Amino acid sequence: MNYQYWNREMELLPRDDLELWQLSQLRETVGHALRTPFYRERLARSGIRKSDDIKSLDDLRRVPFTTKNDLREGFPYGFLSVPREEVVRLHASSGTTGTPTTIYYTRDDLEKWTGFVARCIYSTGCDNTDVFQNMITYGLFTGGLGFHQGGEKVGMLVIPSGPGNTSRQFRLMQDFGTTVVHSTPSFLLHVESRMREEGISRDSIKLRRAFAGAEPYSEDTRRRIEELLRIDVYNSYGLSEMNGPGVAFECQAKNGLHIWEDGYIVEIVNPDTLEPVREGETGELVLTILCRKASPILRYRTRDLTGFIPGPCPCGRTHRRLRRFTGRTDDMLIINGVNMFPSQIEEVIMAMKEVGNNYVIEIEKAGALDRLTVKTEVGPENFMDDTRPLNALREKIRRTLQTSITINPRVELHESGSLPVSEGKAVRVIDMRPRDM
Ligand code: ADP
Ligand code: ZN
Repeated sequence: MNYQYWNREMELLPRDDLELWQLSQLRETVGHALRTPFYRERLARSGIRKSDDIKSLDDLRRVPFTTKNDLREGFPYGFLSVPREEVVRLHASSGTTGTPTTIYYTRDDLEKWTGFVARCIYSTGCDNTDVFQNMITYGLFTGGLGFHQGGEKVGMLVIPSGPGNTSRQFRLMQDFGTTVVHSTPSFLLHVESRMREEGISRDSIKLRRAFAGAEPYSEDTRRRIEELLRIDVYNSYGLSEMNGPGVAFECQAKNGLHIWEDGYIVEIVNPDTLEPVREGETGELVLTILCRKASPILRYRTRDLTGFIPGPCPCGRTHRRLRRFTGRTDDMLIINGVNMFPSQIEEVIMAMKEVGNNYVIEIEKAGALDRLTVKTEVGPENFMDDTRPLNALREKIRRTLQTSITINPRVELHESGSLPVSEGKAVRVIDMRPRDM
């Protein structure tokens, strides 16, 4: 494999040098943070009153965690650390779990962010010969503009298509010879289904790669998209609180996401004890941003669950790798006392060839008990007068799910294209249980 590096020096920097760089950037970031009332007060309690009070990277451990709630309480300008006149852009989170949070960027912050996204894109083998269709929401969400800027920086021809309108997406792909797309994995699956339904031949498009992120998805989903569309799919992770996309990305080895440690200090903690997990164990990702002046955020509890992949990557990058994310700490469902993550259901469903590309999980109360229903799509050939094959398939899915999640679900099979599709992050779980029970 011929790996290419956008910023060879930084991407291959020996660990000792990387840590020295982190320390100098951390001092600067703490300096910016001390200009906000929130951090001035928080850091003073830990004896940090000026940036020089940070003597080593270990001193970061004295800094209290920052939560999404802290950011919400600081809305709108509580975390702004530069004069308003220096800010040229704001973005907001999607608000998947509540009130969105707002982030500010100076011109220099935008440039640095763009550099990180460009690095990710380039690491997958893209360059200025590529045509890039950015099939994700523009606007306040960071995914659209973040990839747009990164794509232009790499020199690709960027088509700002946004999501939705699959027929138009196909037309754009055919007219301009799109080679790369960016999307949520759920929208990619939808695109693939629609392509088949509309009878669009794979040979009429030149697609080679996709960047898929903004929501968790399993290895089986990646494989499914890769096989059906005959492309390479790279996992992209980011969050608005840490700029947006460009935080962690898969290289061509496709084994874990390199997290750019010259831009972020990474910790993985046990979400209950907040102590670091042992190397390789799963825990909550905690990030400190080192590349943004306008909204410095220290030790941010992302609520996203992952672990480090030990050992070096064949690509030679020294930045550590994170395992595929399994979801958020607050995604966990408790069904009749059993804990499970929606990703466990996805893993089962996407590994079954007979099952289509979309699914929904519903939970409701049935008397005193919780009832879990998994709705999936299957092809039209399954809906015949003889219902026996359909019943057998339903029973097979139910049994496989039960073995994996130890809960006995109801399974409903729907015709392809009949379950709701979201243009942004997929809404997979509908929990109809009353809140106070
Ligand atoms: P919100 O928290 O409101 O969804 P963002 O729009 O900033 O805010 O989305 C960031 C979140 O999206 C991350 O914290 C994570 O939960 C999820 N996410 C982004 N990329 C991935 C990915 N590749 N795998 C799993 N989850 C992801
Ligand atoms: Zn690598």
